[in-house]
Amino acid sequence: MEEAEKVKVVVRCRPISTTEKLQGHKIAVNCNDEDKAVTIKSVNQEEPQRTFYFDAVFSPNTDQMTVYNVAARPIVENVLKGYNGTIFAYGQTGTGKTFTMAGELEPIEMRGIIPNSFAHIFDHIAKCQHDTTFLVRVSYLEIYNEEIRDLLSKEHSGHLEIKERPDVGVYVRNLSNPTVENASKMQALMEFGNKNRKVGATAMNLESSRSHAMFTVTIESCRNGLVTQGKLQLVDLAGSERQSKTGAQGERLKEAAKINLSLSTLGNVISSLVDGKSTHVPYRNSKLTRLLQDSLGGNSKTVMIANVGPATYNYDETLSTLRYANRAK
Ligand code: ADP
Ligand code: MG
Repeated sequence: MEEAEKVKVVVRCRPISTTEKLQGHKIAVNCNDEDKAVTIKSVNQEEPQRTFYFDAVFSPNTDQMTVYNVAARPIVENVLKGYNGTIFAYGQTGTGKTFTMAGELEPIEMRGIIPNSFAHIFDHIAKCQHDTTFLVRVSYLEIYNEEIRDLLSKEHSGHLEIKERPDVGVYVRNLSNPTVENASKMQALMEFGNKNRKVGATAMNLESSRSHAMFTVTIESCRNGLVTQGKLQLVDLAGSERQSKTGAQGERLKEAAKINLSLSTLGNVISSLVDGKSTHVPYRNSKLTRLLQDSLGGNSKTVMIANVGPATYNYDETLSTLRYANRAK
């Protein structure tokens, strides 16, 4: 596999909302899906217009299935062959990360990458069942303030620790890891975890947009005595907005620093994988990158979906997301 093929970066721009329209916000972002180009301009053109190119660009009217087919399907195919893969959504809060990863339950066309991958995985299993046996497991965790919480646990499990063993690699001790037999069971677990994420955030007076949510699917298959295992990591990252502007203080500021640290470490890990020259990949600098260690680089495939809003008032954050994404190519 070519180094360049291992990390792909795509950009998705959400539609302008009714509220934004009513408030008179203008469009700052122009997507050219065919040329895979995004152009951004500021309100009164006081800044020069800039154009960035990516592996794919999705304009606001792009449907969920198109995003799945272009961005996610090749990664999931690779996981079904026994390799690891990571798909993550990056961007400012409110730009469509959760819409892209989880989507909405109904109607079915609104479902995001996570539920569409369940359907894809179990369709594949049904087709190969005559000569292959499969074991599918999932886990779902949240990283908040560099602390790990199990989203599939019924009780409040407290914070979990990262461990490493030569035979299994990096793992989270005591993390729930149930087996699933079909897509609807997986869907139910995802919904349970999503609720848990909201409840936990409310109880602690936090916003879920400040945590990273990581849904992991491990697929083990056995055919003619040959066992392979692939792991799919689906990550809805914490909002990338710079917190300094929001006047955060005390605990909030510390928390913001940790979000910034994990997102910048992720950026550094990816760009050092992409340029292929750095001998030291800084996985250990954050929990997020440590947990993704065996799913980035090597034979793994990674897709970063950078989400942006279309309106002029988001100019600074949108430009910073496009720059982050551009660096990861
Ligand atoms: P984030 O997770 O990045 O904070 P959300 O996924 O919650 O953002 O999206 C914010 C709002 O915009 C939601 O109401 C969501 O339904 C809507 N939205 C986001 N992307 C799209 C899209 N591509 N098409 C239609 N609505 C979208
Ligand atoms: Mg979200």
